Amino acid sequence: MIDGRPLLEVRNLVKHFYVSGGLFGGREGVVRAVDDVSFAIHRGETLGLVGESGCGKTTTGRCILQLERPTRGQILFEDRDLATLGPEELRAVRRRMQVIFQDPYSSLNPRMTVGQIITEPLAVHRIVPDPVKREARVQELLGHVGLLPQHARRYPHQLSGGQRQRVGIARALAMEPALIVCDEPVSALDVSIQAQIINLLEDLQREFGLTYLFVAHDLSVVRHISDRVAVMYLGRIVELADRKALYDDPLHPYTRALLSAVPIPDPELEARREHIVLGGEVPSPLHPPSGCVFHPRCPIAIDRCRAVVPELREIKPGHWAACILA
Ligand code: SF4
Repeated sequence: MIDGRPLLEVRNLVKHFYVSGGLFGGREGVVRAVDDVSFAIHRGETLGLVGESGCGKTTTGRCILQLERPTRGQILFEDRDLATLGPEELRAVRRRMQVIFQDPYSSLNPRMTVGQIITEPLAVHRIVPDPVKREARVQELLGHVGLLPQHARRYPHQLSGGQRQRVGIARALAMEPALIVCDEPVSALDVSIQAQIINLLEDLQREFGLTYLFVAHDLSVVRHISDRVAVMYLGRIVELADRKALYDDPLHPYTRALLSAVPIPDPELEARREHIVLGGEVPSPLHPPSGCVFHPRCPIAIDRCRAVVPELREIKPGHWAACILA
């Protein structure tokens, strides 16, 4: 259930990376990975954050998790600005923000059994100091993610991709988080397994009141799980809306193009509908285009788009878009 107060607020987040190059390694330029991004996520809500590779969605997640230091802007978690916290307070906050990675195999230690992988955070963070109770807690966590008691004795390479992702989820749950950043958690899995993992995440959200930032490169994946969806392009949010509004009535030409690439199961409808093919590649964030950064690929661009940086405006209640023609 979503309650009214934001658990997380991202305010005007900017993350630049400085790139060196040339013979003498001088500064070549600035990659504007995240460029003035703001959003809030309410308790119990899932915000889908979608965009092509390199759009800044993963860097946004890493800044929230404090794995990257923001260049500018604020990140507030439970109303506290993370930049103002001391190391002890920050450690406690980081425990309440967990991550599930795209590739569970590379994020699980291959020399540890599943039981050891889940036990480790319980012991290190003294969440369950008593070893006997810890063992029972591991079994409980395995049950929550749909694994069997005997899986505790297996190694990651003895599990399927879906089972490994379940272990990654159990390890995150062990920390009793409030927020989980799901960083493309199903992209490496077969389509049939993707739905199982998404259903599991939804069940866990209901059971434990979890809040998710669900990062994905494709709008079809986040459709089922998200309450609201933000679409990113070249470091900026170009559209943010309730799921239904975004899928039924997309206002930004980039969102329309992404949606037109999502196949519809009905072959007749699929044959009749318009497919918008975007020309060219996503420009380099090292040399972003002037004005609206989408203008070189935008099918409805006008001259003014080269000069004006469109603000993210609330076009309809709760429906925001960054386009001068929206
Ligand atoms: Fe396209 Fe112009 Fe809107 Fe940018 S501002 S999305 S270029 S129409």
